[in-house]
Order: sequence, then C-alpha cells, then structure tokens
Amino acid sequence: MLNRAVFWILLACAALLTAKASATPSSWFNDYKNHQHSDPFLAIESLEKWLNENAQSDVAIDGEAYFRLTQLYFKVGRTTQAKSTIELLKSQEEQLSEQGKVWLGLAQVSGLLAEVKVDPARAILIDIKSDALNNNKTMAAYFYYLEGQQRSLNSLYEDAISDLNEAGIIAESIDETYIQLGVLSHLVNIQYYMEQYEESLKTNQLLAEKALSLNDNFIRIFTYSNAMNIYYMMANKKNMEIGTLTDQSDIDRAEAIHQDYIQKSTFYRNKIFDEAREVGAFKPYLRAKIQLQNEFLREEDFDKAIQTAKESIETAEKYISPFEKAVSYNNLSIALRAQEKYEEAIEALKQAEVIYREMQQEQSILWALEDYSIIYELKGDFEAALDYRKQLHNESMALVRKTNNDKVLELQKIFESEKKQREIDRLHQINQLNETKLSDQRAILALSVTSVIFVVIALLLAYRRNKDIANKNALLDELNSKLKEQALRDPLTKLYNRRFINEVQHKLVSRALREKNRSKRKLGLVLLDIDHFKAVNDQYGHDTGDQVLLSVANDLTHSLRSEDIAVRWGGEEFLVILTDTDKHGITQFCERMLNSRSSQTVNLKGQSLTVTTSLGYLLFPFSTGEESSLTWDESLKLLDNLLYLAKENGRNQGATIKNHKSSLSEEDKKNLLSLQASYDGRIFAAKGIAVDWLKPLSQ
Ligand code: GH3
Ligand code: MG
Ligand code: MG
Repeated sequence: MLNRAVFWILLACAALLTAKASATPSSWFNDYKNHQHSDPFLAIESLEKWLNENAQSDVAIDGEAYFRLTQLYFKVGRTTQAKSTIELLKSQEEQLSEQGKVWLGLAQVSGLLAEVKVDPARAILIDIKSDALNNNKTMAAYFYYLEGQQRSLNSLYEDAISDLNEAGIIAESIDETYIQLGVLSHLVNIQYYMEQYEESLKTNQLLAEKALSLNDNFIRIFTYSNAMNIYYMMANKKNMEIGTLTDQSDIDRAEAIHQDYIQKSTFYRNKIFDEAREVGAFKPYLRAKIQLQNEFLREEDFDKAIQTAKESIETAEKYISPFEKAVSYNNLSIALRAQEKYEEAIEALKQAEVIYREMQQEQSILWALEDYSIIYELKGDFEAALDYRKQLHNESMALVRKTNNDKVLELQKIFESEKKQREIDRLHQINQLNETKLSDQRAILALSVTSVIFVVIALLLAYRRNKDIANKNALLDELNSKLKEQALRDPLTKLYNRRFINEVQHKLVSRALREKNRSKRKLGLVLLDIDHFKAVNDQYGHDTGDQVLLSVANDLTHSLRSEDIAVRWGGEEFLVILTDTDKHGITQFCERMLNSRSSQTVNLKGQSLTVTTSLGYLLFPFSTGEESSLTWDESLKLLDNLLYLAKENGRNQGATIKNHKSSLSEEDKKNLLSLQASYDGRIFAAKGIAVDWLKPLSQ
C-alpha cells in the first residue's frame, strides 16, 4: 500500500521535473497557454509577434513555437498560413536544434494529415519516432497523438486507440489541454466509424464538458457537428431497419425513434448555423451546409440545393477544405442535372472529380463517373455515356481487384464518416430520380457496372459484419483467404465464375423485368459448350485442353461489349449475358462465335485443329403469356435443353426457340423444361413450339 503511494508520488514528481526540464520559453508560452482555448486568434497574434521578434536571433531555433502556431492556424481554418509556416520552418532546417528538427517533423505530419495524406505522414513518424519519444514529454505526447490520428485515418482503430490513450495519459500529466481535447475528439470519430453510436455520443458529451470548462468555443461547436452527424447516422440506420419490419406496431415505434433522431440532428445543425460563424468554426459550418444540401436534394428543392452548394463551395475555397468543396460541387451537379442544365452539371462534376482524384477518394471517383454517364444519357449523347460507363466498369474492376490483402482496410474507409452518409443519401436519391422523374428516359445505368459496384459493396459489408477490432489481424488473415476462395473470377480464363452470377443475379433479373414493358431491350442468354472437348484432352493432354479453353474464352471476350458478362459456367461450358439486346443482336453474336470457331484453327502440338462449339440461346425474360414469363432458373434450364438439342443435331451450331404462339399452356411449358434427349425438333414442332437452328457459314 505504502509502496504504491510512494510510487505515485515519485511518478508525479518525475512528471513535474520532466515538464520543467523541457522548459519552453516562458516569454511566449504563458501568453499562448492563457489564450489558446478562449481566444485562439489572440494566441496566434502573440505567437506571431514573438516569432517576428526572435526569428533573426543567432540561437538555434527550437521549433516549438512554430509548431504550436501551425496547430492554431489549422484550428481556426487558416490552412494557407499553417502550410507556409511549416515551409518556413523547413527552409530553416540548417539552423534547427535537435529538438527543432523533431518539431518540424511533427508539424509536417499534422500538415499532411490535414489533407488526409496518410502514407507520407507515416513515413515521417517512423523517421522521428525515437527522437520524439526520448526528448521530452510534450514531444512524446504530440508524437503519440499524431500517430493515433494517422492510424485512425488508416482504419487501424485498435492501434489508434492505444496511441491516443498513451497521448492522453502523458498530456494529462503535463496539463497539455490541446492534446486532451484532441484525443477525445478522435475517440468520438473512431467510435462513430465503428458504428458505436451511443458510445460516440457519450465521448462527445465528455468533450463538450471539457471544452466548456476551458472556454473553447471552437471545440464546443465541433461537438455540435459531431452530434449532428451521429444522430443523422442513427436516423439512417433506423430507417433501414424500418424497411425490414413487418409488424405495424414495431414500425410505428421505430418510426418515432427515427423522427426523434432526425429532430436531434436538425437541432444541432441549426445550433451550428446560429453560432459557428461568430466563432469562426468553419469546419462544422461546412459540414452543416453539406447536410443541408443533401436535405434539399432529397426534398427535390433543387434551387435551394444549388444555392446552398454554391455558398458551401465558396466557404470551402476560403478555408481550403478540398473534400467539402468536392462534395458540394458534386451535389451542385446533381441538382443542375435535375434541372436539365446538363452543360453546367458537367462543369460542376469536373471540378469535383479533379479534387477526388487529387485526394485519391476512389469510391467518390466512381460515383462521379457514374454521374457523368447519367448526365450524358439524359442529354442523349449515348456515345459519351457509354465511354463513361466503360471507364466506370474498368475502375470498378480495378477496385475489386484491390480488395485483396491490406486493401480491404482501404475499402473499409469508403464507408466512413460523411462519405458513408452521403453515399447512402445519394443511393436513395438516385433511386428516387430514376423511379420518378426519369422513369421514361433512358437514364438507367449499364447493368454490369451497377453489378460490379454491388459486388464491391457486398464484399465490404461482409467484411464489416465480421469485423472484430480485438482480433483484427487474425480476422484479416481469415478474411483474405475467404476473399481468395470467393474470388469472382475463374483463375484460368479470368472470366467471371458462377459465384459472380449468384451475387448479381437478383439485380440482373429485377432490372430486366422492370425494363420489360418500357423497351425492347432484353437480356441475351447464351450457353456455349466446346464440342468433343474430352477428345482433345485425351489426345493432347490436359495442358493443351487448357489452351483450347483459353482460346475460346478470348474469343468470347473479344466479341463482347464491356457491359456484357462472360462466365465460365462449368468445365468447358460458358454462359454469356448480353445486357442490352434483342433477337437480332443475340443472333448476330452467336453467328459471330460460331463462324469464328469453325473458321480458325488452334495449333496443338504441331497439329492444327478446328475446335468448334455448340450453343443454346434465348432472350430473357422469355414470355409465356400476356403477363407471365419463365423465371431465371427456368430460363437456364431451357437454355441447357437448347444446347443439348444443338449437340444432338450435329454440333457446331446454335439452337433457340422460334417465335412461339403468344400464350403457352402449362403443358407447353412443361415440354419446354422437361425436354429430354429423346425430344428433337420435330416433337417440339408437334407441340407447336419450333426450334430455330443457327449454323456457321462454313456449314
Ligand atoms: P460434347 O461435344 O458432347 O460436349 O463432348 P465433350 O467431350 O466436350 O463433353 P464431355 O462433357 O463429355 O467432356 C468434357 C470434358 O471437359 C471432361 C473434362 O475432363 C474436361 N474438362 C473440364 N474442365 C477442364 C479444365 O479445366 N481443363 C481441361 N483441360 N479439361 C477440362
Ligand atoms: Mg463439351
Ligand atoms: Mg460439357
């Protein structure tokens, strides 16, 4: 017991001594300390003055005053000045003391983190680590604080929390209030990212109390912005939950809670609008503005959305807040597009895209590409729309490929913070636009593209469901192998595999059915099988067989458009889905395939051989009456039967159902689906169903 008390006293003394030993020049420090919270502008002024008077002195620059000044600049939104102060310090590197060099490093890190440049920040942190930790407590506290920030931005929450705890403990021991507030503020964020909303609110409350006791108006208003976002997310989540409920009383109860969250969020938003400007708290102000934009878009009040977005852009410009600026431009573009001002919408979107790319906000880039294609489609410029769809397809696939290994972590960030909020908003909004205003226009995205994004999101959600911070590394290993195992492509041909179709099938079908009455566009289904493949294997070996498989797969990809889907369905069987076609289109494609196979030879161990294919093809939905059509599974079954017929009829050809009478009886349908080897075209004909044969030119 005694031992313990002595230990604590010693520890306290040690802390005091170290704090003294790190002796910051009292000439500026006291002024700074007195004003940093209650009047940061005054604190800035006194620091600037001190630096001006002492800049030319001969003594080595210790850097701390510069560092503190940059932090204050960032706090009040004078980002340009913060950056040039860091540059100034860097230019004086020669004159810097040992400590000065560490402060320079810390200042650079905070500058990089302000722009979410996590990797370069990390590199500097590694560089200065031992110097920072061995020098003095203030430096050590700032080191842990910034490292925590960096790791949090990198989604390494477990590590971030332990860093921030470390920083908090040291900061408390030396009464470093700036860090104490910062630590709480980051914990609020981390809990929010981890979807621990109640806990996040509690931490935010702690932060608010601490800010109040220090008279820190900036942080006080920051806590409003946190509360606004957290309640908004809680409302969103409730809303999704409502969609899954069936019992009316459950729905009513959930709806009441949802309303309550919305009201709370709006309450804090208004508080920000009332108080932020006077204080100069620009970040919370911008966030509130963006939320308001989203609200106006949802209400379809596009004039107000445009006005708010323009105001936000101006503010973001002034306070160098690139992400907020880009989001506002993007929202502006959506509102302009809704008003059919397409040229302006494109201009606004370009502004957003440039910033997204600079900041490497990959998910946002995808949304921007998607937006371009929507605008061009609305404009009637289908060629440009298609180009953007292709680009979206390619960049989505690149993102899917990156889903491996450590990139899972990066993907997780996609759903973080405001982005998450905004994307959910936009999903709702795009759906709304599609369903109401644009329902008669051709503004629906290429299916393969949406499917790919759907898969990205599905992977992401699967990851998040399994997320367990405590077992992060073990989990990641497991996840990586799962991802590999679940890979969406066949390793040999690099075509999609069946899993991919399972994932997107629902979307494919529902869109095809939705489109059914509006246009002639359908899905084209082609099931293709290599003829006498077993013989190739037997005669030339498995490796050669693989070469043949590859050559067929290449043929397929070359004759497809980027929005079509080719799948390795089984061993030597391929399913092709043309996403937007008609009778003529699908027939042409099949003809092209048959001609290509029967006219080319594959070089097999010195011998050239013709490897042909047979195929069944069909449009989906396949109508069986006024209102009815075959289901997806039934269509695949029929397709399989048609392939069988093509084989039976001599191979190297295609088979499909010829125009049939508009309404099929149950009996007819049964015949179509239960087709056995014994059936042939004649039996079909006898049943009133005719088969169309498609042969290559050479036959
Ligand atoms: P048919 O014209 O009736 O389709 O005759 P076939 O010989 O092509 O049909 P069958 O289904 O009897 O044989 C398919 C063969 O494909 C059997 C299997 O060994 C082979 N196979 C399946 N997957 C692969 C693979 O990945 N590589 C190789 N080389 N062969 C494969
Ligand atoms: Mg075969
Ligand atoms: Mg086969």
